[in-house]
Amino acid sequence: MSLAMTALPDAPAAQSGHTRPAPAKPVLQLVGVKKIFGDFAAVDGIDVDIKEGEFVTIVGPSGSGKTTLLRMLAGMEAPTHGYITLRGELMNDVPADKRPTCLVFQSLALFPHKTVGENIEFALKVRKIAPAVRKERALELMRMVRLPESYYGKNVMRCSGGEKQRVALARAFAYDPDVLFFDEPLSALDYKLKKALEKELKDLHRESGKTFVYITHSLEEAMVMSDRIGVMSRGKIVQIGTPEDIYTKPANRFVAEFFGEVNSFAVTKRGGAWFTSEGLPVRVAHEQSISGDEATVIVMPETMRIIDPQSRADNVIKGKIYNEYSLGSRIQYQIHAGERIYLVEAPRAAVGHIAAGEEVSIGWDAADAIVVGD
Ligand code: ATP
Repeated sequence: MSLAMTALPDAPAAQSGHTRPAPAKPVLQLVGVKKIFGDFAAVDGIDVDIKEGEFVTIVGPSGSGKTTLLRMLAGMEAPTHGYITLRGELMNDVPADKRPTCLVFQSLALFPHKTVGENIEFALKVRKIAPAVRKERALELMRMVRLPESYYGKNVMRCSGGEKQRVALARAFAYDPDVLFFDEPLSALDYKLKKALEKELKDLHRESGKTFVYITHSLEEAMVMSDRIGVMSRGKIVQIGTPEDIYTKPANRFVAEFFGEVNSFAVTKRGGAWFTSEGLPVRVAHEQSISGDEATVIVMPETMRIIDPQSRADNVIKGKIYNEYSLGSRIQYQIHAGERIYLVEAPRAAVGHIAAGEEVSIGWDAADAIVVGD
């Protein structure tokens, strides 16, 4: 792929004389990246380093700026402020077709009247690679994305949604890009296929060793696949970390509540301890940096439990079962306690039958609670 790259004026010079192996270098660097439309900042100052071979997912609600960010990374929009560099070279104004990157869309953009093989070989044909070599490479890529060899001559429009997704992936890999970008490629697929392809994409990432940057509005999808997740809100990345970090130590209430069903309730600090609005003390082991005395306690439903009178927990509240919901292998209980509703989830095998209206005690340990700011 031909590349017209401009050197970044203050790009750091390569170090020499190392005795220890150098840490993995960022393949992509974003410094103060903004995209302003009129007086609206769709992307509002992003600083991120993406390492070689990483799988990074940017997740956020509709309108948070994910697509705009990805379009800048892929070369379909230029940033209004900041730098995007690829292996130290400034990319801001380099168009998409001159970047060593490739974008896989939800709409796939396959050539409709061509075969699977012709679609995959497109990039190789442009590079004037001999037909026999092209076919060999296309078949190799088809094996990689788990498409049967017999599909080589099949019209791509006769493929199912999942198969088309694999063709689009193989076609992207045919470019041999340094970085693959994914714009919600699985969002139109049914749940079961989506779950299977999430795992396959993660496998493909490991097998190929390429750098993947993926956007989605689904934190669940991001959790399955990613090495790191960046959570976006109103044009900013409010937290970036491993799935474990994001899940166990959400930076603020927005990130915690983005998980969907979590227990979150307001607390106030008095004399160094946290109290609910009813004046009950709440014991918590983790506290994110919070300014002021008002905050929110977050407890995941799976770490809250219904306890019998002999058991102990750092925090105990009495309530009444309102309803139970089957989540397959787990049961979720909705429990009313005063003005509040708590969600408790437990493995199906671990709970006996509890009837609606029954009085119960719910408990959770300080280690499973975190205090976050807004
Ligand atoms: P979704 O998940 O719905 O695709 P998103 O997180 O990808 O949303 P963007 O498409 O990046 O969000 O849009 C972010 C904000 O920027 C939105 O408010 C959108 O209306 C605005 N925006 C995007 N493109 C333009 C444009 N060309 N001109 C003006 N505003 C734009």
